[in-house]
Amino acid sequence: MTSRTPIMAGNWKMNLNHLEAIAHVQKLAFALADKDYEAVEVVVLPPFTDLRSVQTLVDGDKLKIKYGSQDLSAHDSGAYTGEVSGPMLAKLKCTYVTIGHSERRQYHGEDEAVCNAKVKAAFKHGLVPILCVGEGLDVRKAGEQVSHTLAQVDGALAGIPAEQAETIVIAYEPVWAIGTGEVATPEDAQEVCGAIRGRLAELYSQELADAVRIQYGGSVKSGNVAAIMAQPDVDGALIGGAALDADEFVKIVRFRD
Ligand code: PEP
Repeated sequence: MTSRTPIMAGNWKMNLNHLEAIAHVQKLAFALADKDYEAVEVVVLPPFTDLRSVQTLVDGDKLKIKYGSQDLSAHDSGAYTGEVSGPMLAKLKCTYVTIGHSERRQYHGEDEAVCNAKVKAAFKHGLVPILCVGEGLDVRKAGEQVSHTLAQVDGALAGIPAEQAETIVIAYEPVWAIGTGEVATPEDAQEVCGAIRGRLAELYSQELADAVRIQYGGSVKSGNVAAIMAQPDVDGALIGGAALDADEFVKIVRFRD
């Protein structure tokens, strides 16, 4: 089996202004400036308005923290008021872009076609999508979490060639666990993350499926991360609330300690 570097990504959502972002990333950099942190890929996903500040910090230091945005437009440029394009994010040297977060799906009506167009736009401009998928409570209660989530994976990856798909990160985020304190059990996370890897093997190849990193997201904290990370198909976490506290995020990154 391919060894996969764990990836811990902090989704700041609509929090932290650009000055707070600088202080936060400096704290992370200081706390993670030893060899341990090389074993885990650390990513921050600030609001668009903070990206330039984060870029300047990361450029100006020998930090290996990576950063990305929480969304992008499916279009390259033009009359799309309020949107931010892939070329703009690439110019800011973003590595990652979150696509299809449940809050985008819920509040902005993003469906599979939109997510698919955004995944294509991200790859076109050299950005790595962190594709978010996962079921709501009604689907979970009906026991349909696997089929629901795999349909989201199928939709978002339609027409994506293997050489792009092999670099994607997929975040399994059950909607009922996001920001609720209601964390999925490690077994819940493994069930769906394992099924996602199985689907990647069907869509592409076992080799590709073994290389793709799959995160769990939903009320991850320092106290529950190790048990989740112990699951064979969980390669990292997408962290919302707990990522806003630099000390707590560092503890999550250091889940092996
Ligand atoms: C998220 O927003 O992706 C998330 C997982 O949030 P939280 O960790 O707060 O549940």
